[in-house]
Amino acid sequence: MLNTLRDITQAVAAAHTLELALELLVAQTKAAMDTQCCSIYILEQQELILSATDGLEKSAVGRVKMPLSEGLVGLVAEREEAINLADARKHPRFKLFPEVAEEEYRAFLAAPIIYQKQVLGVIVVQQASARQFNEGEEAFLMTLAAQLAMAISGLKRRADVQGLEQQILFNGTCASTGIAIAHALVLGGEIPLEQPELRAADTVAELLRLRTAIGRSRDALSALAQKFDGEQDEELSSIFSALLSLLDEASLGGEYAREVSLGWRAESAVSRVSLRCIAQFSAMEDAYLKERASDIRELGQRVLRQLIEPGRVTLEPDKPVILVVREADTGLLAEFPRQKLAGLVTELGGVNSHAAILARALDVPAMIGVDQVTQAGLDQKLVVLNASRGQLLVSPTPSVVDEYRNLISAQRALQRRYASELNEPALTLDGHRVHLFLNAGLLSGVASEIADGADGIGLYRTEIPFMLQQRFPSESEQIKVYRQVLQAAANKPVVMRTLDVGGDKPLPYFPIKEENPFLGWRGVRLSLDHPELFLVQLRAMLQAAADGEQLKILLPMVSHLDEIDQALAYLEQAFNELRTDFNAQLKRPPIGVMLEVPALLYQLQEVAARVDFVSVGSNDLTQYLLAVDRNNPRVSSLFDSYHPGVLRALHAAARDCQSHGLAVSVCGELAGEPMGALLLVAMGYRELSMSQGSLAKVNYLLRRVECHELEQLLELVLQMSSGYEVRELVREYLSSRELSSILD
Ligand code: PEP
Ligand code: MG
Repeated sequence: MLNTLRDITQAVAAAHTLELALELLVAQTKAAMDTQCCSIYILEQQELILSATDGLEKSAVGRVKMPLSEGLVGLVAEREEAINLADARKHPRFKLFPEVAEEEYRAFLAAPIIYQKQVLGVIVVQQASARQFNEGEEAFLMTLAAQLAMAISGLKRRADVQGLEQQILFNGTCASTGIAIAHALVLGGEIPLEQPELRAADTVAELLRLRTAIGRSRDALSALAQKFDGEQDEELSSIFSALLSLLDEASLGGEYAREVSLGWRAESAVSRVSLRCIAQFSAMEDAYLKERASDIRELGQRVLRQLIEPGRVTLEPDKPVILVVREADTGLLAEFPRQKLAGLVTELGGVNSHAAILARALDVPAMIGVDQVTQAGLDQKLVVLNASRGQLLVSPTPSVVDEYRNLISAQRALQRRYASELNEPALTLDGHRVHLFLNAGLLSGVASEIADGADGIGLYRTEIPFMLQQRFPSESEQIKVYRQVLQAAANKPVVMRTLDVGGDKPLPYFPIKEENPFLGWRGVRLSLDHPELFLVQLRAMLQAAADGEQLKILLPMVSHLDEIDQALAYLEQAFNELRTDFNAQLKRPPIGVMLEVPALLYQLQEVAARVDFVSVGSNDLTQYLLAVDRNNPRVSSLFDSYHPGVLRALHAAARDCQSHGLAVSVCGELAGEPMGALLLVAMGYRELSMSQGSLAKVNYLLRRVECHELEQLLELVLQMSSGYEVRELVREYLSSRELSSILD
């Protein structure tokens, strides 16, 4: 049973068109269930269209359309549940559609195909004899429908884009506000094996390209083989080893090269060889050899990917693009040329994933959680990304493009207005001064991140300089980077956070494989387990700061007081070593911890006895308080820093820090959101650290509100029962002050 299910789902998922997928599905399901008829109806604009059948009249495919309110198939879609009838004719909703010629069938079993709460269609099996399908058969059809829903939804999207006569819309979640109009560049999407047949201008150069691509594919495959070997997964390891040997000169690798020698471009050569071999293998009788066709396809696509998307660092499109990727890792974004990045769309990731934070730091409109968007054939298509609304319009009409151009200019005008006050202090109308700091470190260039008008750097994430290297940066390399940061901040304070890798920030040269990376070896945990690395970082920070007053050191992911004690001991050790080794005149910098693990909220008195300040990491605090992975799009609607429970925790933290005389700031994303900043100021926070894109806006806003009004608002907010109600209340307040345009 499991094998049959797997065979059907694999065959459907491998099909390149919706039509083919559905045909395979009905034929294989009919055979697997040993019935006389299997059909599938796809829902389009409230009508169910017969889209493939094995057993009904073929000519009715695409022609028979039934509204949801009619017939048994409509009832399945309407009720969103399976129906199993021994004799369909006896059911009051039975309706005969003469074109499909189903008169002979009586037994009827149908299951809805539902993906992400949306009915995509209905799969039906029928039989002439009046008998009830048994429970096992019913469960099989339902499992099949559930397993295939994702593949069908992807193929349906792709068919919509390809048969495009009018603009179509994809929805997702906003990760960084703004609008962009540009062509899509899809990375990591499916590469079609069918490539145009083009002749090469220079055969020698082309052979070199091919060899490089084969070399890279070889490296990737042997890494995979080794990885699975290490994990004792012999089956997977041998699959990759087998693919690897196919790349040999005596095998497909040599075939590709021969075709290039005949004058073809490398892409055309790989495509020609692959298609030819697939045709030969598919025609074979032997089931094992037949299956090898899929290996040839996979290998061809791997080599083509290396030819078409060769390494991301060298990627430099001629015009700005909207990058469409399955998952944006921070490394990719940090390396991608900023002036060529108009927008970002991803399938995976959460609103507070580091890639999303980076997009905000870069001020690039970004939308996440757009299901299967890389498979939808968007590459090179003109798109409008309205990230603020969570919408991606493909092939927009000229009038829509004009409208969006006007919106973009209106937004730029607003931003200029906010920026015009950036050099004025963030002073509320009733005289409360709020200090605004910059979150930096996620960009590779430092100087560009130091905004005029910030009171300093409230969070310098040291991860990126580590992520862009091939190995741990040396002490002197780190000193250089930290010095640049301190200099760029021009005498203003800089809070440098020690390494916070792990979670969604992997180091390419220090892979960590964990079931639950956000609950795993992250931040200070890793530093304390590797004192040799931690000490180098501390020494580098101390030397970069020399005798200056600017530096403050911040420890991430602290969950136990003991970790603070150990870290302080290492700091002392680094400090003493430097004094002895270099007779250096050093100052002990203030030291703080991130308040991002909930347990620490209840130990603030003990924390206050150990460190000089705390910085609230609302991103992780929200993640851990709500038990919602900040990176998982399936649960991103549950990740809500405005959840009244989270707000109460933040409020209590502000009060407790005050009562223990512990300096506190907030450096999570909430501090840079207009609504979040208002609520935090109302709670008593006077230091907020945010990305550059938020500074001017938050400053402008705080200069137009009264703190005592915000405190009244907070009282109401804390009585609300959901994040939604909280936002509505703050929105109303902003409207009443004619400030709602700040919400974009
Ligand atoms: C946070 O958790 O809020 C924070 C600022 O740190 P990071 O986003 O880097 O985990
Ligand atoms: Mg954090």
